[in-house]
Amino acid sequence: MTFQSLPKIELHLHLEGGAPPAFIAGLAREKRIDLSGIFDAQGNYTYRDFDHFLKVYEAACTTLQTPEDFRRLTLAVLEESAANGVVYSETFLSPDFCGGGDLAAWRDYLAAIQDAAEEAERTMGITLRGIVTCIRHFGPEQAKTAAMCAAETRGDFITGFGMAGAEKVGRPKDYAYSFDMAREAGLRITCHAGEWGGPDMVADTIRDLAPERIGHGVNAIHDLALVDRIAEAGIVLEVCPGSNVFLGATGGWRDHPIAELHRRGVKVTVSTDDPPFFGTTMSTEYEMLHRAFDWDEGMFRDLNTVALDAAFCDAATRDRIAKLLEA
Ligand SMILES: [Zn+2]
Repeated sequence: MTFQSLPKIELHLHLEGGAPPAFIAGLAREKRIDLSGIFDAQGNYTYRDFDHFLKVYEAACTTLQTPEDFRRLTLAVLEESAANGVVYSETFLSPDFCGGGDLAAWRDYLAAIQDAAEEAERTMGITLRGIVTCIRHFGPEQAKTAAMCAAETRGDFITGFGMAGAEKVGRPKDYAYSFDMAREAGLRITCHAGEWGGPDMVADTIRDLAPERIGHGVNAIHDLALVDRIAEAGIVLEVCPGSNVFLGATGGWRDHPIAELHRRGVKVTVSTDDPPFFGTTMSTEYEMLHRAFDWDEGMFRDLNTVALDAAFCDAATRDRIAKLLEA
């Protein structure tokens, strides 16, 4: 069974993490950067273990140096998404990686990314919105700079604020100032939690940062009272099963908590996180969930309705995308 043509919504995708290996290899050739060690004979990313994976990811990102690089990256990522039936996507963007936190530089990067998003909407029929993320392991002070950049560029395209990076660094309350600043600017809130951290990290994130959505959140499964609270509050989980299985954040596909979370009434959605790095696509995620839990097309249509309800876009965009989901 293939789900490639089924219209899909994706809420959790890191733009740099979506970079197709052939695109990165091409940029490296143009810029004469030696990345020969990060690809296998088939041209895919390759690594020995988790630490090496992080090094390969960082090495790939060294090719992304200018707004024009990000314009081309955005088109390459959206081409891949559209080929897998994605009609609406939200991507994480970090001012730290786009101009080093300088507001004027960030505006230049953002203009290039938005330009590509508009082109993709015209030519591929996929709609993109951006969520600015601070990077947790860069610390609370740097997070304020990201929040300021987010607040200053909030609009039709930048609609949300969140936090990515190493989850074990610091506690959510350390970043509350930045999240409050973003919320007051009218941005919608999501935050990575419960991927590497335990249920306590999910609970503290909900208490101190009040997100509407949580990136991953799967480790909430180890505290069923917390699972009930998440379900009752209607907090949406951006679950990335292939990422979790690949990196070992959870057990294998058949043991993945997404099915139990759903059974317990939690609003779950399906995304890819950093797809080519984990050998996945949105179609592959659906295929693997079908094999693991016998989820069928009707189930995936329901999950996409949940995802669209939780999308950080305006009502007119939501109505337009809803029609595409009926196809
Ligand atoms: Zn992520």
